[in-house]
Amino acid sequence: MRRRLSLSSDAARFCRKEASLATQSYYCIQCHKKYPTHRKLFKTLYDFSKMAPQDCPACGGTRELRVTLDFQLGTGDGEFKVVSAFLPDKLESWLGEEEEEVTFYPFVVVLERAGGGKQFCWMPYWHVTGKEARYGQHAVCLDQSQFDSLIEQVHEKLLQPV
Ligand SMILES: [Zn+2]
Repeated sequence: MRRRLSLSSDAARFCRKEASLATQSYYCIQCHKKYPTHRKLFKTLYDFSKMAPQDCPACGGTRELRVTLDFQLGTGDGEFKVVSAFLPDKLESWLGEEEEEVTFYPFVVVLERAGGGKQFCWMPYWHVTGKEARYGQHAVCLDQSQFDSLIEQVHEKLLQPV
């Protein structure tokens, strides 16, 4: 059953367009060809969370998804390989302004600096209303071990009898 909450509009207010934040491409690890996705980051990540990119049309090699982040990450801006992308099994929807349905897409994306390096978790999120996906203003970026530590604590707490 769909949840109907009224606090939706707040969340929608803290948004900005995704276009200025990232560009994405598929990169062939065999022939090193780069293919811009020509798609929105939201759609690209969504698809990637469901299935691996198709092989390189030129050489049949494996292609990886890369994103160029142009906002300050702390680890420095640049190009990152998307190792994996996850969405919760169940997404939450509610009725927002003008009774429009809003769906919240909180991603956990594991990134690695192109050319190898430490992995970390990037947590961008979108609010999708109708056909429009709005990027959240803030995306959390955590070291893999910090992220593990947090999730571990959540699990420990949840497993404890109340
Ligand atoms: Zn190729």
